[in-house]
Amino acid sequence: MTQALVIGGGIAGLSAAAHLSRDAEVTVLEGEEALGYHASGRSAALIEQNYGAPSVQALNRASVEYLQTHDGGYLTPRGLMILGTAEEEEAFRTDLADMGLEEISVDCACGMVPVLNPDRLRFAGYHADAQDIDTDRLMQGFARTLRQNGGDILTRQKVRSLRYHNEKWELQTDAQAHRADIVINAAGAWADQIAGLAGVAPMRITPHRRSMARIPAPDGQDVSNWPMFFGVGESWYAKPDAGCLLVSPADEDPVEPHDAWAEEMTLATGIALFEKMVTTQVTRLLSSWAGLRSFAPDRTLVLGPDPAAPGFIWCAGQGGYGFQTAPAAGQLVADLVFGRDSALPAQVVAALKPERLR
Ligand SMILES: Cc1cc2nc3c(=O)[nH]c(=O)nc-3n(C[C@H](O)[C@H](O)[C@H](O)COP(=O)(O)OP(=O)(O)OC[C@H]3O[C@@H](n4cnc5c(N)ncnc54)[C@H](O)[C@@H]3O)c2cc1C
Repeated sequence: MTQALVIGGGIAGLSAAAHLSRDAEVTVLEGEEALGYHASGRSAALIEQNYGAPSVQALNRASVEYLQTHDGGYLTPRGLMILGTAEEEEAFRTDLADMGLEEISVDCACGMVPVLNPDRLRFAGYHADAQDIDTDRLMQGFARTLRQNGGDILTRQKVRSLRYHNEKWELQTDAQAHRADIVINAAGAWADQIAGLAGVAPMRITPHRRSMARIPAPDGQDVSNWPMFFGVGESWYAKPDAGCLLVSPADEDPVEPHDAWAEEMTLATGIALFEKMVTTQVTRLLSSWAGLRSFAPDRTLVLGPDPAAPGFIWCAGQGGYGFQTAPAAGQLVADLVFGRDSALPAQVVAALKPERLR
């Protein structure tokens, strides 16, 4: 049986590991003490099928059934709204077309989110199909599938070196040495660093920081049924979260891979944009954090065997789509490893394979 080592215990590594474990002996190696410590523990946990490049949208669509039905389903209704001022009509119309939203009246938008400022809001678009993903349970579900298939997950195993020798990959972590036929690079923001350790050419995957503040529900309102709402052009957003509201400046600053945190100025920018669109003031933050969204130059995932390095498999560049694409991305990685036909259209597979970037 093929032996596989998956580097990275975020959603990308866990979904690939679960899918591979049906036909391979799989071990996940995670450098941190816990799974999902980096980007996967810091997301907004939404699936919007019309979000992302065409090949990303194809992965979103191909993932929905799994997300809806597997293990009782991981999705709950949320809805997504885009809000524009009088000066933003052109950008609003672009968003409406790109995301397939329905234009709704200002009254209707204020009915859904009563704190919106009707004097400032001029345009609103809505998509009911956007849904919350139970991201913790999804990661646990993939981990359980992996273990049921005989796979293993090891934490505190930061990979320090890897080399291809006698048709095997040899890895050294902080804790021990490992050997396998194939290596899956699911190291998120560190994916190019892992390639560098292996002597494989990088894919120019760049981490971009995104920050988040949690604030009390405005005016003590019950926010649980509010949609997620965005400024045009993804300039900021807010989303209900366990009785509170998350507010993000939707920042996208390119950074080196690191344990990300939110800067006060960045958070303040997001809060100011949010306050311009609502009738309430933010008086305190409950907490804040940031995570890294790591994109290839074409903002599309990089999935499948490296064209030049035998047994070196990419599962990287998940950007802002790692959860909504995970079931289909994990399936595609397994299909490409075992040379099986994919259920995805050939042009989508070609747009996702590493070859396109070389
Ligand atoms: C603020 C924010 C909001 C988001 N909102 C959404 C959303 O609504 N919907 C959505 O689908 N996506 C969203 N995303 C994107 C999503 O979170 C990411 O695409 C996804 O988590 C990436 O998963 P990953 O497994 O590739 O990366 P990570 O979760 O970062 O996992 C990579 C892992 O590799 C490990 N690693 C790195 N180097 C080594 C090494 N040398 N040895 C061992 N292990 C190593 C790291 O410790 C890490 O745990 C959001 C992201 C952010 C930051």
